Amino acid sequence: MIQIEDYIPIVGRGTIDELFLLAKRLEGKSIQNINSTAVGGGVAEILTRMLPLIKELGVSARWDVIKGNEKFFQITKKFHNGLHGMPVEISDEEYEIFLSVNKENADELTFGDIVLVHDPQPVALILKREEIGNNWVWRCHIDFSQPDKNIWKFLEQYITRYDSAVFSAPAFARQLPIRQVLISPSIDPLSDKNKDLPESTINSVFERFNIDRGKPIVTQISRFDYLKDPVGVIKAYQLAKKYVDIQLILAGGGATDDPEGPVVMELVQQQAADDKDIHVLFLPNASDIEVNALQRGSTIVLQKSLREGFGLTVSEALWKAKPVIASAVGGIPLQIAHTHSGILTHSIEGTAYWIKQLINDSEQAKQLGINGKAHIQNNFLITRHIKDYLLLFTSLFYNNDIVYF
Ligand code: UDP
Repeated sequence: MIQIEDYIPIVGRGTIDELFLLAKRLEGKSIQNINSTAVGGGVAEILTRMLPLIKELGVSARWDVIKGNEKFFQITKKFHNGLHGMPVEISDEEYEIFLSVNKENADELTFGDIVLVHDPQPVALILKREEIGNNWVWRCHIDFSQPDKNIWKFLEQYITRYDSAVFSAPAFARQLPIRQVLISPSIDPLSDKNKDLPESTINSVFERFNIDRGKPIVTQISRFDYLKDPVGVIKAYQLAKKYVDIQLILAGGGATDDPEGPVVMELVQQQAADDKDIHVLFLPNASDIEVNALQRGSTIVLQKSLREGFGLTVSEALWKAKPVIASAVGGIPLQIAHTHSGILTHSIEGTAYWIKQLINDSEQAKQLGINGKAHIQNNFLITRHIKDYLLLFTSLFYNNDIVYF
């Protein structure tokens, strides 16, 4: 069992003392997180790691997951795609279904003193607010730079009823009459996904997947989702492969609130055809050691997303000092300064060019990884994230916008 003190060697005693001090301010308050999936994707990943630590600091915290049927998650996936700029049509009936599932969940749930609602799926739980007088915060993890206007108009009616909204990056902030806060996500350096691994564990994972580590390996680990552009990854690999002899790993699983996985995986398999150097791996839930080992055993890590909330996979790979080539979308530029802590690209061709470049220049690749790791250490570890949340929660009990400690 990881304890909060275990982070002292990584972030220093002062940081941990500060967390205890802030947590004291929340004595007697209960914090409740609500989202739409217990496993799969970045939100579940963060909550799984953060909740036990917040509790250890002495804050009463819990996590509830809303229930929804297949139809509901098809609709919310359409919301997700539309908010990320894909053309989608949502009928009145679908909006009604969305609201009725939110209402059913609102009737079943009891609410804490601070209710932190993650992403659009449970946003309309706020309708229940009139009946109780607590603090509601909407936590948006997605890329809101160009949302579909109609979906935004619909969601705005609910978002504006919250006390505050939290976004991951300045580019996603919206014109809203409520207080907005920027809090970027984080990774846990001591989780199974990110902790140091012995070389023997890394080797055994690659052996289990039947992958020979003798040839450079380029890897993307993500849910099989159009917006992660796995087909674009294969195209970039195919272009680079003309110049450098590499292998590609595309590994991922699903999330219970994402029904599109199997269709995208099918497309990926078609594009991969019978190339023996492309390894398409399905990762079941709780494959953290596998994700860790695949990232550590890779020569280059890709994240060729078309849209991205933050992209935890980028932080994860940088923490392992890997050279990362990722799209300049969403929260990724917060994590990568181009040619310093990684590579930012805008196209399949650009990604292919940089794969070739970094395979041929291992010194440059190594330096990018070293700088990347330092950047994550300074900005995107879970202790900084917990501090931001504790400050936000405390500030909710003050009338003014500035809280002095
Ligand atoms: N992940 C995983 N298994 C998979 C695919 C992804 O554990 O098969 C993890 C990944 O390591 C990261 C999170 O899920 O911790 C994905 O977060 P990210 O912000 O990259 O993308 P999201 O899925 O939330 O859009």
